[in-house]
Amino acid sequence: MAKIELAHISKTYEKDVTAVKDFNLEIEDGEFIVLVGPSGCGKSTMLRMIAGLEEITDGEFKMDGRLMNDVPPKNRDIAMVFQNYALYPHMSVYDNMAFALKMRKFKKDEIRRRVTEAAKVLGLEEYLKRKPRALSGGQRQRVALGRAIVRDAKLFLMDEPLSNLDAKLRFQMRAEISKLHHRLKTTTVYVTHDQTEAMTMATRIVIMKDGVIQQVGSPKEVYDYPA
Ligand code: ADP
Ligand code: ADP
Repeated sequence: MAKIELAHISKTYEKDVTAVKDFNLEIEDGEFIVLVGPSGCGKSTMLRMIAGLEEITDGEFKMDGRLMNDVPPKNRDIAMVFQNYALYPHMSVYDNMAFALKMRKFKKDEIRRRVTEAAKVLGLEEYLKRKPRALSGGQRQRVALGRAIVRDAKLFLMDEPLSNLDAKLRFQMRAEISKLHHRLKTTTVYVTHDQTEAMTMATRIVIMKDGVIQQVGSPKEVYDYPA
């Protein structure tokens, strides 16, 4: 759990491409924020700045009061889930989930405990020995979520995690991610261009256009949902 403060955040890529302009948002512990808006409006850029994968041109990003702008990604206590899963094809499901913990020199017992627990939560217990290619799209996406869960990070970032799934799976995984959030209560920033995902998952929705926040509010306030 973490409180996030984003104050006057801007991002200018070289050649004067301003991707994000004066972004202001405070996120409370345990919120599920959905950033929504058309392609190119700056959602991924915003997420990558929070992750530390992209430098913040201007403004301040604080996590639990600590200024994060210059903290390297590996020291941020943030776990990110990508659209394309980014699983290691040559590693088993278990090793995919264990990898980040091994890199961080966790003890074997602790790694096993965390991976087993995440596999249970995600219904992956029977698949731990399989390689990603022997999994369905939904199962792969669960492994990607599992890799984030085992980190026990303070903040989850998700960049269009469901956009490669077919409609039925998207519907299922949407419900599963919501359930997971109810259970873990990890503060989450979730990026999508899908309004249905925003309506059904968010505690608060942030609508962006051309790098600027247009509107912030609950699903009810923004879309009058549930009616
Ligand atoms: P998204 O699916 O979030 O819209 P894109 O497919 O637009 O992302 O971008 C894919 C990758 O290409 C991103 O990592 C982004 O940083 C990079 N990218 C996007 N637009 C540009 C650009 N105009 N110049 C250079 N790189 C870009
Ligand atoms: P979204 O995630 O909403 O699709 P992005 O954050 O990927 O939007 O992109 C916002 C703007 O910044 C777009 O105009 C895109 O072309 C530009 N952009 C993204 N990444 C880069 C990059 N690495 N270099 C230059 N321009 C980029």
